[in-house]
Amino acid sequence: MTNGTRTLDVVIVGAGAAGLGFAVTLRHLGIENFGILDRAAVGASFLRWPRQTRFITPSFTSNQFGLLDLNAVCLETSPAYSVGTEHPTGTEYAAYLQGIAEHFELPIATGADVLSITRKTRHQPFRLETSRGEIRARFVVWAGGEMQYPQTGGFRGAELCLHYSEVTSWDDLAGGERCIIGGAESGVDAAVALAAAGRQALVFDREEPWNRRGSDPSQLLSPFSRARLHSAVESGRVTLCGGCAVTGVRRNGNGYQLAFEDGEVMDCAEKPILATGFVGSASLVRSLFDWQHENFPLLTENDESTVTRGLFLVGPQVRQGNLIFCFIYKFRQRFAVVANQIARRLRVSTEPLKWYRRHGMYLDDLSCCEDACAC
Ligand SMILES: Cc1cc2nc3c(=O)[nH]c(=O)nc-3n(C[C@H](O)[C@H](O)[C@H](O)COP(=O)(O)OP(=O)(O)OC[C@H]3O[C@@H](n4cnc5c(N)ncnc54)[C@H](O)[C@@H]3O)c2cc1C
Repeated sequence: MTNGTRTLDVVIVGAGAAGLGFAVTLRHLGIENFGILDRAAVGASFLRWPRQTRFITPSFTSNQFGLLDLNAVCLETSPAYSVGTEHPTGTEYAAYLQGIAEHFELPIATGADVLSITRKTRHQPFRLETSRGEIRARFVVWAGGEMQYPQTGGFRGAELCLHYSEVTSWDDLAGGERCIIGGAESGVDAAVALAAAGRQALVFDREEPWNRRGSDPSQLLSPFSRARLHSAVESGRVTLCGGCAVTGVRRNGNGYQLAFEDGEVMDCAEKPILATGFVGSASLVRSLFDWQHENFPLLTENDESTVTRGLFLVGPQVRQGNLIFCFIYKFRQRFAVVANQIARRLRVSTEPLKWYRRHGMYLDDLSCCEDACAC
């Protein structure tokens, strides 16, 4: 694929929740000269979720009373309405995204893996080298997500384990008791699914995420996971082991051995499961950002790279100070902030964004996101 000498106004990398939601914002602004590139397909990450995994954030068709469905990526849509369930599976959610791509006639090129992004000077367009040819663009919006980049846990022997993101169905995992390293959302999801399949699971975590309290859902187990975990523990199939930091995994005959920080070791017959999280995809274009932490790029107040003007980030890797935008209902409110910047520089009217503001889809005053609850 090549767009020859034509330069697109905007290229969006990634046709997931963030890329599509942002693209709809461009559509609402009347910006036409843009494209979306995805190495795989629309909603590819969701299609790769384990078959049993469901959204932890609930969907409900509350739109007509002014409350957008928590999992909607754009105004006037609702996954609860489209797929008819409160906690969609990855496949169901991908179908919702597919519906958005079709309804808004979004210009998506699939099978287009973005390999590098360069720019000679800040006055010239970006050049995106892709598996389907070169693309040029004035603005690039990175929406590559995180699911496809597993975090390996940073201990010796992590490569011997099976990462959560490599599992297509927990029912397919043969054998007996499984050790799960990591007790946050993905570890709990794995444990609950294994218990439902009739297996035993031991969950190890340095802390005890299942007991953490607070008001920011990004730092806590969701109510959905808490309830499912409670039932799985009650059934006797899941055992939670807090205060257990795994420092290494090695082969031990036909099985494996886990080593812990306190010097203890434990044998397990089956491949341990790594539920240690994900690394954001923006690491692929690491040099175009400055980094506040190895996983989170430094961004301006408009979610633009602090070192590469014209390059923006949307999706779960966005952080502003201590605020974490990892959920869809959080990061979707920043699409309009980025779109506003791009529209102004393209000299396009930003009038339609008033509609976004009225419906809680334009979050630029972050003082309202104080991390405190009254009850
Ligand atoms: C198991 C799991 C459960 C979750 N549950 C919830 C939940 O219940 N509620 C919630 O709000 N959030 C949840 N999340 C967070 C979730 O990741 C994000 O909400 C959402 O997927 C992020 O959307 P995205 O568009 O940024 O990324 P993705 O959906 O991953 O989309 C990124 C797209 O970019 C493409 N891509 C990546 N790199 C390139 C490249 N170099 N070139 C071309 N294309 C590329 C990929 O193919 C992919 O299609 C969950 C995450 C996981 C992993």
